[in-house]
Amino acid sequence: MSGVFSRDFAAEMPLVDHAEGVWIQTVDGQRYLDGMGSAGVIGIGHGRTEIYEALAGQGTKVSYVYTASFTHPWQEELSKSMLSVAPEGMSAVYFVSGGSEANETALKLARQYHVERGEPTRHKMLARWQSYHGVTIATLSLSGRTSWRAPYDPYMLPVVHVSPPYNYRCTICGGEGDCTDHCIEELERTILLEGPETISCFFAETIIGTTASGVTPGPDYYRRVRELCDRYGILFICDEVLMGYGRVGRPFAIEDWGITPDMITCGKAIGSGYAPLGAVIVSEKIAGFFREGRRRFVHGFTYSGHAMSCFVGQKVFEIMKREDLFRRPGRIGAYLHERLGALQQRHEMIGDLRGRGLYAGLEFVADRQSRAPFAPEQQITTRLVSMMRERGVIVGGGVPGANYGKGGDHIQISPPFIITEAEIDTLTGALDEVLTVLG
Ligand code: PLP
Repeated sequence: MSGVFSRDFAAEMPLVDHAEGVWIQTVDGQRYLDGMGSAGVIGIGHGRTEIYEALAGQGTKVSYVYTASFTHPWQEELSKSMLSVAPEGMSAVYFVSGGSEANETALKLARQYHVERGEPTRHKMLARWQSYHGVTIATLSLSGRTSWRAPYDPYMLPVVHVSPPYNYRCTICGGEGDCTDHCIEELERTILLEGPETISCFFAETIIGTTASGVTPGPDYYRRVRELCDRYGILFICDEVLMGYGRVGRPFAIEDWGITPDMITCGKAIGSGYAPLGAVIVSEKIAGFFREGRRRFVHGFTYSGHAMSCFVGQKVFEIMKREDLFRRPGRIGAYLHERLGALQQRHEMIGDLRGRGLYAGLEFVADRQSRAPFAPEQQITTRLVSMMRERGVIVGGGVPGANYGKGGDHIQISPPFIITEAEIDTLTGALDEVLTVLG
């Protein structure tokens, strides 16, 4: 009997022996292609021993300092590196240990900013349905995946949710147009109804990942979000925990919309799984306000800016730069999308193919014409994920008990940035077989 309190007592967890590149191998010799990049975490690939070799030298100098009392070279260096690839106007980085912590930090920073500026009425948070921002009570409150919130409903904070620009399932434009107009109208109406002077921030995953598999807004959406936020004094926070740091073929996904948010939250690929690391990249508007007023942020985890995590983060950054991994997912991702596009031609059950770079989402339908989803009892996603696993390929989705609801079944493919064309062929070949069985 294992002594571990498992994430899922209903499932048998294979025991891992080692991992290298895009491959994970268990002690009994089974190899898995890590087609979801281990929850979208792995950018530079598994098994980069150079990171730990470098760490061995530095780790003897100092393993930990409390960042409320000291700074250290590794967070100083990594903040400069990250700012060198961040959108213009961002000027400081606050380091934490993961994505939920980054989002929690951003919303506290937004609140304190307003309070210190003499606007204490600004306490409400705006976010979108079908989004995911983390597991802590505040970040789960931001999240719009109802089934994940359900057991904790009595604890949820009063977050106001608006519609995401989920074109394929849009009940207003019928999936034909661009949802931007009515999403922006709804956002503005909500702001006015709630009272702009009560709203602190609008939180959005630039491209919605886990809970909607790649829902991507139209080209004008974020410019108009930015305008609304500016008009009503609301801070705009982009959650790029999953989509940031190279995954879509750019350092940050928001670049495609050409605007600068007030904060960008990061996690996953910045540590690439080699150390727990998250970050809030803060604009000069906010960082300058705190710096110039010599203000103290009333917040801090014991492990904020952990020295070894930041050291690892800097090594990850250097590898990303050296191997052009902030851009490669754009190029190799085009091949992935081409192969998936070919599958969509052949398999009627692929209703929608979306995402960018090395993030691809597939939504499955019982009928392509009407976009009718499969009945939940058919458990399409769960079965598909397990059939892929039997063929040695991991894809994301099929979380037991998850409510795919009206949005239907969907999976995400988010492999490490170093995946090759041949490995993509292995992944799409397995998917082809599975869809043939299911279809
Ligand atoms: N935000 C997004 C968009 C995510 O995808 C995730 C994790 O999947 C999180 C936040 C939470 O990050 P973490 O699991 O590191 O706390």
